[in-house]
Order: sequence, then structure tokens, then C-alpha cells
Amino acid sequence: SLPLEGKRALVTAAGQGIGRASALAFARAGADVVATDINAEALATLHGEDRITTRILDVLKDEMVANVVGETGPFDILFNCAGFVHAGTILDMPDKDLDFALDLNVRAMIRTIRAVLPSMLERGGGSIINMASVASSIKGVPNRCAYTVTKAAVIGLTKSVAADYVTQGIRCNAICPGTVESPSLQDRMRAQGDYDAARAAFIARQPMGRLGTPEEIADLAVYLAGATYTSGQAYAIDGGWTI
Ligand code: NAD
Repeated sequence: SLPLEGKRALVTAAGQGIGRASALAFARAGADVVATDINAEALATLHGEDRITTRILDVLKDEMVANVVGETGPFDILFNCAGFVHAGTILDMPDKDLDFALDLNVRAMIRTIRAVLPSMLERGGGSIINMASVASSIKGVPNRCAYTVTKAAVIGLTKSVAADYVTQGIRCNAICPGTVESPSLQDRMRAQGDYDAARAAFIARQPMGRLGTPEEIADLAVYLAGATYTSGQAYAIDGGWTI
């Protein structure tokens, strides 16, 4: 039988990039997946996929999270993938960027965990996976202040949830990628003006000499969804960036 057969998974930011690849990978591993995003067009690219249903979900909205989880839950697996990368040092980080990063990258994960965890506890188990980054408490990366602050907070959140519920069948781990080919990375490379130079600089950070693929990160998400003896860990998957 498939490793995630009979499991139900909720994935946020599943319209593109790592979230989309993970929704597909969970489904291929046998899980029934509720793939969510704010972008209906992106979600539509999953229509017709076996074992995947899609729902519009803005993780910034309390009531919407409660409603979607209430209508489509309970879940055995929660993959919090939504996040945004701002550029800037501490001196050129507008408060509105920091507030947005805290809201989307951190508070939204707290919101979805609060919505999903009670039914996981009732059912005696669950796997929560939070998307962090090696740009976090693991590694300082230039010009990523809001991002690094919030992704470090994701690792703290992960360890806190893991510590509180480890005896009740709940596992909570964080995924910490290096640089991964995704639509938003493409946007960021284009925004720098010289696309080829921006791409070369991102590749140069990766000792393996290439960017990661969303599918490579999705493989780790599948592992963590089904793993049985790990919790509270921050898993680097970074092409050797933090060797
Ligand atoms: P992406 O940034 O290209 O896509 C993000 C998705 O999130 C989009 O489909 C967007 O519609 C959705 N989204 C945005 N706001 C939302 C909201 N309020 N509610 C629900 N969905 C929302 O995808 P990606 O680059 O694979 O990034 C996914 C996650 O992985 C992020 O948390 C990111 O920080 C993290 N990450 C990415 C990289 C990378 O190099 N790509 C590296 C490390 C960590």
C-alpha cells in the first residue's frame, strides 16, 4: 500500500511552487489532499488530479481558515507552505513589510495549526510541517531581514508545538530549503533587472551548482508527513548551502 494511504492532508499555498509539487506528491503517496491558495487560476492547474480537491483559502483570514478547516477537515497532515520573501536590511525594511511578513510567514501558520490541531488531538495523531528556510536561525543571508526574522520564528513555533504535543501523537517539523526554482523566485530574479546575472548569483550560493526543484522539496514533505520517529526538527535541504 502507499505510504500515505488513508491520510487526509491540508496544504496551503498549493497553487504553485513547492506547495503545488507537495500537493501532487502527497496525492501520489496515497493521501487525500485539500489543496488551497488565494490564487484561483493557479489552483485550477490541479483540477482533475486524482485525490486532490481545491479550495480558495487566504491564510491571513481567521474566519476563512476556520470555515475551510471546518468544512473539509479533519486532517492527519497539515503543510503550512504559504510565505513571502521581502528584500532589505534592517535599515531599509519598512514596518509594513515586517508586519506583512510576520502576518503571512508566522501568524498564518499559528492560525492554521490552531484550526487543525484540536481534531488531530481527538484522533490521536497528526503531522504538521511548516515551511521555514535556511535563511532563518540556521543562516544569516544578506538583505533578507524580514524574511530571516520570520523564518527563524517558524522554527521556534515548530519546536514549541513539537514540545507541547509530543506525547499525544503530534509531530511538527520544519523544512528549510536553499534556493528553489519557483514562480516567485522567477519574479524576484526578473525584478533585479539583469535576469541572467541574478540567476547566476543564486546558483553561485548553492555548492551543488544548481537550484533545487519543488519536487525535491516535496519528497521531504512526503517523508515528514509519514515519518514516525522525528519531531521538532528543522530539516535543511539546501544544495549544500549550509555545509
Ligand atoms: P511561490 O512563492 O512561487 O508561491 C507562493 C504561493 O503562495 C502562491 O501560489 C500564492 O498565491 C500563495 N499565497 C500568497 N499569499 C497567500 C495567502 N495569504 N494565503 C494563501 N496562499 C497565499 O512558491 P515557493 O517559492 O515554492 O515558496 C513556497 C514557500 O517556500 C514559502 O513559504 C517560501 O518562503 C518557502 N521557501 C521558498 C524558497 C525558494 O527558493 N523558492 C526557499 C526557501 C523557502
